[in-house]
Amino acid sequence: MTIGIVGGGQLGRMMALAGYPLGLDFLFLDRSADISVAKVASTLVGEFTDKKLLCELARRSEVITFDWENVSIDSLRALGRSASIAPPLAALAVSQDRVAEKKLFGKLGIPTARYAAIDSQASLVRALRDVGLPGVLKTRRLGYDGKGQVVVHSIEDAWLAFERLRGSPLIYEEFVSFDFEVSIIGARNRQGEIVVYPLNRNLHRDGILRLTRAPWGAPALQRSAATHLRRALEHLRYEGVLNIEFFVQGRRLLANETAPRVHNSGHWTIEGAATSQFENHLRAILGMPLGATTARGHAAMINLIGSLPSRDAFIGEHELHWHDYGKTARAGRKVGHLTLLETTAARRDARACSLLRRIDPASIR
Ligand code: AMP
Repeated sequence: MTIGIVGGGQLGRMMALAGYPLGLDFLFLDRSADISVAKVASTLVGEFTDKKLLCELARRSEVITFDWENVSIDSLRALGRSASIAPPLAALAVSQDRVAEKKLFGKLGIPTARYAAIDSQASLVRALRDVGLPGVLKTRRLGYDGKGQVVVHSIEDAWLAFERLRGSPLIYEEFVSFDFEVSIIGARNRQGEIVVYPLNRNLHRDGILRLTRAPWGAPALQRSAATHLRRALEHLRYEGVLNIEFFVQGRRLLANETAPRVHNSGHWTIEGAATSQFENHLRAILGMPLGATTARGHAAMINLIGSLPSRDAFIGEHELHWHDYGKTARAGRKVGHLTLLETTAARRDARACSLLRRIDPASIR
């Protein structure tokens, strides 16, 4: 049985590696032949909107899924009944537009920062008055890893940011002075079965995820995040893995964004949970029973960004797992990750801190 995946980055690669033991095969569609999945699966090379290639992908696959959310919904929709696509395109559409995402959170009773859609100078003036300063001006679409967003402290900043980002539809959000950030990942299959992983605490630098620790935090936070996630999974009649990121302020959770796919903050589940997010995504989109999400200890995942450190200086350490995505080194690019497992949260935190200091001292300034 073949799974078609639009996008051939590291997420697709880890999906394929999780799927082979289940007896699955994979076929990717990507713009380049020189990608993370090239060594592990066959790839159709062409644009994500290429009708002929999408039809071929549909013909050769049991189900089509994707490894990033900014794929063309119109092109996938045009496949009509010839393709089974999961997660649902409605979830993909929501995640592609920060305003649609915030509206969905509002409809589901999931709190967010105050925000306003910006499409003109007049709407920016209104937003500065209603939402207030400081704030963040962001592009509604195609923003990831902190790209396409500017923090605004004054009216002058707001106009400069508007000039910089204009041409794209924008959103202005209240700047949240959060205590920390968390994310929650879960899966729902066609039969409506839902599983939820332990909460992840995430540390970003320059908008890019550096460190995830899981399981994290008070049971009340976990319960509240899981309730929000379940509501979204059910509302969307979701099939696959879904992630929601939150800001934590005191005991309050404010939803920031959602990703209708496996997520970087869930990489620790490969070694750190009974079933990885990648395997559960595949099980969910194929309507298989879902696997347990219990943690196997206390995990920390560190992204390797820009270039890989010397592998042999790390892999001799106890319960330290090395992941090289096979990508060319480039500033700001995620080229691999490390996961460590420990027996207590305190040991995990201390070890994660010393590893970060070795790999990227600036991360823990
Ligand atoms: P995003 O692309 O929305 O996930 O933003 C990337 C990172 O920028 C987040 O994980 C936060 O660390 C920071 N950020 C985004 N939006 C806000 C906000 N409204 N207030 C404070 N920090 C933010």
